Amino acid sequence: MNDCLFCKIVSGEIPSNKIYEDEHTFAFEDIDPKAPTHVLVIPKKHLSGLKEATASDAEIIGRCHLTAAQIARQRKIEDGYRTVLNVGPKSGQSVFHLHVHLLGGRDLRWPPG
Ligand code: AMP
Ligand code: ZN
Repeated sequence: MNDCLFCKIVSGEIPSNKIYEDEHTFAFEDIDPKAPTHVLVIPKKHLSGLKEATASDAEIIGRCHLTAAQIARQRKIEDGYRTVLNVGPKSGQSVFHLHVHLLGGRDLRWPPG
């Protein structure tokens, strides 16, 4: 998508601290981290968000979570991490290219605010 921040990060037009990339997914450090590990995992292909997803997006949404799990394993935060999808403006979603937040490396309270 032409005017999408995260599409521009995937293409390299906007720089990021890339953590991981494969054929389908791309992961980079959140610019405003809320935990010692705060990584964003995104599909390379533009998808606005979970509520816009259809059955044909099931595989890529799963792949994003599996990439997050792999990064959590590598960072040795498997004693407690969280994957979060903010959906819609009232959840705090500010970028409308689907992204899985991977948060960990500290105690995480429940429920989230
Ligand atoms: P959300 O609020 O769920 O839409 O999450 C968007 C996230 O993107 C926020 O946590 C921001 O800190 C993060 N973010 C915004 N711009 C950038 C950027 N240029 N590089 C990395 N992370 C970003
Ligand atoms: Zn996009």
